[in-house]
Amino acid sequence: MGNSSSVTQEVRDDPCDTLPEVEADTSRCPKCPGILRASLNSAGCPLQYTQCSQLPESHLFCRFCLAPWKPIQKDGVEHCSNRSCELVYTLLICDTINNPNSYVHGCPVFRACPQCYCLMMHVDGCNNVTCPSCRHQFCFICLQSSDSHLGFCRKPLASRQRFVT
Ligand SMILES: [Zn+2]
Ligand SMILES: [Zn+2]
Ligand SMILES: [Zn+2]
Ligand SMILES: [Zn+2]
Repeated sequence: MGNSSSVTQEVRDDPCDTLPEVEADTSRCPKCPGILRASLNSAGCPLQYTQCSQLPESHLFCRFCLAPWKPIQKDGVEHCSNRSCELVYTLLICDTINNPNSYVHGCPVFRACPQCYCLMMHVDGCNNVTCPSCRHQFCFICLQSSDSHLGFCRKPLASRQRFVT
């Protein structure tokens, strides 16, 4: 119908399959060297949590934000109790900036403000950014306060952020 070329922004169901090697940590247990596996209900549908291959009874995590699984009941279904669940999921699966001329080459496209967890996208410019919400200035690469090193960053690239609110 002439609309077939429109691009829909679909959330990928299984990020572990499509992410490059450096992002493979989303399939690793945050607590031990185990691998996270999707859990299925009796009908074969994936549940909202994943289980560790080594300690499947005690290492349960939300399959989106990877927070320890502490479900809340909503409409008779278990949901992740992390209010930042979707935000963290975005941080974990978003693309990596692979433009070699970018100041923040190798960083995820999105970071969360370390102070207020506001989601921020790096558009262009230098590695020091200002949160539009709380005005905190931080480095997009190492996530430390910009006061600690204005300008070029020589600190290690901070890994993708995970947190619970
Ligand atoms: Zn584990
Ligand atoms: Zn979650
Ligand atoms: Zn902020
Ligand atoms: Zn830095």
